[in-house]
Amino acid sequence: MSVLDTFKLNGRKALVTGGNRGLGLAFATALAQAGAQVAIAARDAERNALAVAEAAEQGLTFVPITADITDDDDVTRMTAEAIAALGGLDILVNNAGTCFHNDSWHATDDEWSQVFDLNVRALWKCSLAAGSHMTDAGFGSIVNIGSISGLIINRPQWQHAYNASKAAVHHLTKSLAAEWAPAGIRVNAVAPGYVKTEMAPVDRPDLRRFWIEDAPQQRYALPEEIAPAVVFLASDAASFITGSVVVADGGYTVY
Ligand code: NDP
Repeated sequence: MSVLDTFKLNGRKALVTGGNRGLGLAFATALAQAGAQVAIAARDAERNALAVAEAAEQGLTFVPITADITDDDDVTRMTAEAIAALGGLDILVNNAGTCFHNDSWHATDDEWSQVFDLNVRALWKCSLAAGSHMTDAGFGSIVNIGSISGLIINRPQWQHAYNASKAAVHHLTKSLAAEWAPAGIRVNAVAPGYVKTEMAPVDRPDLRRFWIEDAPQQRYALPEEIAPAVVFLASDAASFITGSVVVADGGYTVY
């Protein structure tokens, strides 16, 4: 087998949470382009349908699943639907996430709960649901989407709850990797820098200096530039990589 073949995902079945827009849509597209059968899950059924149509224009097929992954019953149903539609589940991309831009004095309990319920608790629940199937199969790859906010503190957007949640994602990645390696499951994370999506206000002039002018590459990324890292970690090319956090930030965290 050539090294290029190890990156191919032909015959693999993948589920991407938050796959209807932004980074998740780019991940779903790249996984499908690499040969995987792909299901996308998110709350907004209309956005899911738009993502399916966008994929179809590129000759790709997504299975859309409407689910709120902060609801445990939805996680169970979503995973079962993905396994039934795809005929199994080898790859889970835990991408869905949310953010609040409040400093520690002004954040509300509700904001903390929303950030941790989605970014951390739901990621754990989705991993358990998929991991149970992968354990039975003796094979699987989970890719969690962390952030450089889990490594450094963003200025001037104080978002302490988000930062703490992404640090938790990175450490949960390592814990699950250690626990599940004997079951043949690899668990890794990608920590993106500043990426142009609905979540990231890339056009705000007050943020330009911190996020763009001070960055080594002096630009933000497009979602498509983060996707190859996810495909790599999901693939057999990363067969000896587990518990890693791959930073894709244009050099932002070198300073
Ligand atoms: P977006 O806000 O553009 O997309 C978020 C996605 O998550 C949507 O598909 C949304 O779909 C889905 N989602 C939100 N809540 C739920 C829920 N309760 N259940 C199921 N799906 C849900 O974000 P990005 O694409 O920018 O971010 C994706 C990931 O990348 C996040 O984890 C984020 O923290 C991380 N990240 C982003 C960076 C950036 O600069 N953009 C940088 C570093 C990390 P719907 O609303 O239909 O449910």
